[in-house]
This record gives sequence, structure tokens and C-alpha cells, in this order.
Amino acid sequence: MNRKEITYHGIPASPGISIGHAYLYTRNQIKINAEVISDGEVEKELDEFKKAIEFSVKELNKIYALSKERIGEKKSQIFDAQLEILNDKYFLESVIKRIINEKRTAGYVFDDEISKLGKILLAADDEYMKERFSDINDVKNRVIRNMKREKLVSKVEENSIIIAHELTPADTILFSKRKVQGYITDVGGITSHAAIISRALRVPAVVGMKVVSQSITSGELIIIDGYEGIVIQHPKNDTIEKYVAKLEDYKRYEQKLFEVIELPSETVDGKKIELTANIEFDEEIDFVTTYAHCGVGLYRTEHLFIEKGDFPSEKEQIEEYSHIANVTHPNSVTIRTYDIGGDKLLPSSQKEQNPFLGWRGIRICLDRIEIFKEQLRAILISSTKKNVKIMFPMISSLEEIKDARKILKDVKKELSEAKIPFDKHIPVGMMVEVPSAVLLAEELAKEVDFFSIGTNDLIQYMLAVDRGNELISSLYREFHPAVLRAINKIISAAHKNEIKVSVCGEMASNPLASAVLIGLGVDELSVSPNIFPKIKQIIRTVNFKEIKAFSKELLALHTEQEIKMKLNLFYKEKIGI
Ligand code: PEP
Ligand code: MG
Repeated sequence: MNRKEITYHGIPASPGISIGHAYLYTRNQIKINAEVISDGEVEKELDEFKKAIEFSVKELNKIYALSKERIGEKKSQIFDAQLEILNDKYFLESVIKRIINEKRTAGYVFDDEISKLGKILLAADDEYMKERFSDINDVKNRVIRNMKREKLVSKVEENSIIIAHELTPADTILFSKRKVQGYITDVGGITSHAAIISRALRVPAVVGMKVVSQSITSGELIIIDGYEGIVIQHPKNDTIEKYVAKLEDYKRYEQKLFEVIELPSETVDGKKIELTANIEFDEEIDFVTTYAHCGVGLYRTEHLFIEKGDFPSEKEQIEEYSHIANVTHPNSVTIRTYDIGGDKLLPSSQKEQNPFLGWRGIRICLDRIEIFKEQLRAILISSTKKNVKIMFPMISSLEEIKDARKILKDVKKELSEAKIPFDKHIPVGMMVEVPSAVLLAEELAKEVDFFSIGTNDLIQYMLAVDRGNELISSLYREFHPAVLRAINKIISAAHKNEIKVSVCGEMASNPLASAVLIGLGVDELSVSPNIFPKIKQIIRTVNFKEIKAFSKELLALHTEQEIKMKLNLFYKEKIGI
């Protein structure tokens, strides 16, 4: 049957083109398969069950720890009670035995056993016991959802294009293990973390498609164009041919850009702009070590937490940070302390009302000093080659940076006393990504060795536009005059105090914006590896004096529309890449 070709438009979130079969990922209904399974399937069921229990315990431990901090030990005991069920060896054994003896799916037996437990509680003539029934239901749903999640991911054919209403950063990472060829979601914005991760994984993504997950079904042939933000369902043969050709063109173009990768990062009139990479995953580390031989301007450490489902141990962190410091040497690596929270904190059931305005970044670290100290120790121990810098996220006041530095000082003292080597002069910087930090930039600049502007958050907080909400994505404006003026103010404050300033938000990876940032005087741009060659090319094409004068003109304009119009003309005429 020849079905009509349909084109959907969304927000381009990660560049690239893929042609492949869709896989619809839904998390909504939890269906339990009650059928008897074959002998050969028993092992797989047991394995899935154990993994789901392990994962659920990790999730609950994390929630329990966070919730104790937030609402206190007493009110958090529900999580402890839930953990007790999952740690009850007798209960788990009885499920395992039944899977083996009755040859039923793990989901079926677990549901049945835990429901029995629930019925006993409901029958009790005691209010407290009755309340525990809802805990049991929570645990049941969590484990079955995790069983289903593992199963779903393992069922995804390799090379599929994932369609989902929403993807968390953890989902995105999990699917990448099945070599997926694209991500398409109903919700999300270009700087949401799932989008940043898809760029990091170099997988095309289109987000903010509104209802696409209701229109495309698993198995359908689709095209995803992450450059333009387009998804095509039932493509005709000539459309497929057109996209195959387009893909080839892009590959040739990117190959050409790649030729500049190791050339000096300076403007035609000799102004040096440091170009570094934003790194989170192994694939990106390969990019730095194999191709670009550049420094790392932002090493996000949250992925350790997201992948593990819990805070990594000090030993694990030392391994990870030392590895990145070693492979990057002699270039430097800026390790950012945990910026957990916002849209990075799992699971969604525990979300705050306003997570982006909530318990996030340095706030968590200053509340949980032991975890913070562990991370600082690991970073310091990895700094012996003297190429590591520390950076604190989400600083919104002078007190916060002073407190963070005081804790760092304590950790340094402890290490010195224990005669553990580290870089005593390790540079310490902060992200400028909260509007209050812009207004205090002069004072804050005196407390640190460098600034790094986090435009992803700075824009959302300045303009009151959630970075991950597709409904208002048109209001998320990098060229809003207030944003340009804020960046200008940060750069002036930094230079007045003789410290360097970089931009590590996604704005640095936007070709048009990168030109303006150079003109405004940033010392460093830290960008996604997939756009690195292009930004290098832009740096090598602009004339600093000219772009500086032009950026000054932009600062005087009053609307984003005027700024964009002028900038587009300039870019076309003078840069044109
Ligand atoms: C930013 O806010 O611009 C930034 C780089 O940090 P993240 O995207 O991790 O919040
Ligand atoms: Mg940020």
C-alpha cells in the first residue's frame, strides 16, 4: 500500500540525517504478561528481575538520601520502608523460586507476590498498616516499570529511530547502547539535557514535535533531519534519494571543515581565541584525544550520577578524572562539580514543583558537604599534572562562592596533612548562569580565577523561559538585547579584574552567536565536539577589530529582531560559512 508522505516540523536539537525504522517508546501502561514461558526463557526472566530489583534499590537509595536532606529523616521513612521490601531476601527468593517452578514471567510472579503482601496489610485493623499499602503499590510499579524499561531497551532493534513523548537523559544514554540512529520527542527544547546528550552522542535529534508520538508507529520507515528539524513519515523513493544525497553533501562539507581542526585558533588579524570542547561521554573524549587535541572547557560530572543511579565513590571518581586529565594533557580540563537537579535529577516521580528553581548544583553540594568533599578530593588528587581546573555551577551569591572555596581549602589542608600530592595552585572558577551573578560580577570576579558563562541557564533565568519547554521555545532568545548586554557586562567585569572568561553554554556552539561572542571579547569558547570544526573555521575567518566594532553596534539595538537582521547580513557578507 502506498501511504501518503507526511512531513512534521519540530526543533532541530542535534544535527545529522538518518533513514530508518521507528521505534515507539512509551512508558505509560504497565502490562503484565501472564502467559507461561518456555524453559529457555526462564534464565532471561531471572536476569531481568534481578537487574530491575538492583536498579530500583539504587533509585530508592538516591531518593531516600535526597529526601532526608530535603524533608528530614522522619518524613522520609516511607522510602526506607520501601527499601526494606526490596532487600527482603525471603521475599525475593520466593519470587525467584516461583519463576523457576511455574515458568511464569518475572513481572507476573512479582506482581502476584507483592499483591498478596498488600492484601495482608489492607486486611489489618490498623490505620498505619493500611497506609503501608500505598508504599507497596509504589514499589510494585517501580520494579515493574524498571523491568519493562530494560526489556524495552533490549527489544529495540539496533539502528532504530526512537520516538517518544519525552526522553530523560538516562533514557537517551540507555538507548545509545542499541546504536540508535535518532531521537524524536513530542516535548523538549534545544538546551534540554536530553538534547545536549544526543548532540554529545552524535545522534540526530528533533524535539518539540508536539504529538508525533501519537502519529508514528513502530516499524514505519521514517527520515529524521536533525539539521532542519524535520521528520518524514512514509517517505517516497525520490524523497529518500534526495536525503541520501543531502547526507553525502553534509559529509563532504564536514570533511572539509575537519581540515582546519588542528590549525591555530586565531582570527585573521591574529587575536587568539581558545577553542575547547564540552565533554561528558567517552565518545567525546576520543574526539579530543584523536582529532582536535584541544582542552576541555567544560567536563560535566553529572553523567557519573545519572548512569550509576547514585553518587560514584571517591575511587571511581579519581579513576574517571585522572583518565580525562591524562588524555587531555598538556591541554587543560575544567572539571565542573556536580550540577545535579533541574532536568537531570531522576526519577520524575520525585520532581520538585520548580526543579530549575530548586535544589540544584552548588546548593546540593553545600548542603551535602561530605559528598562535595569527596568530589573535590577526587578532583584534586587527579590534578598532579597541573592541567586541571575546578569550576562551581549555579553560583548566585558571594556567600556561596566563599563557602565553596572554604570547603575546598579544608580539603586541600587534609590532603596536605596526609601527604597526598595535588596541584596546590589549581585554578578555581565559577559558572555565571544566574542573573544575580551577572549583577555581582565585579565582586565575584575578585573571588575566582576565571568565569565561564552558562548561557543555557542564564537565558532561561533572565527571560523566565524554561529551557526544556517546547511551548515557549520561540521565546528562548539568544539574541535578546538583555542577554547580549548581560554577557557584555560579565566580560567587562572579568577583564577589569584580570581574569579570563569563557562561554560554555550552547550559545558558543551556535555559529552566528559565536561570532558575536568573539566580538564581545570572550577569551575562550567551549563547544560541542560535533560543531568544533565549524567554530574553528569561524574564528579563523573573522577580523577581530571588525567584529568588535560590529558587536558594539549590536549592543546599542533594542530588539532581538533588529539584532538578528543585522547579524544575518554581516554573517552572510563577512563569514558565509
Ligand atoms: C549552561 O547552563 O549553559 C551550562 C553549560 O550548564 P548545563 O547546560 O549543564 O546546565
Ligand atoms: Mg547550567
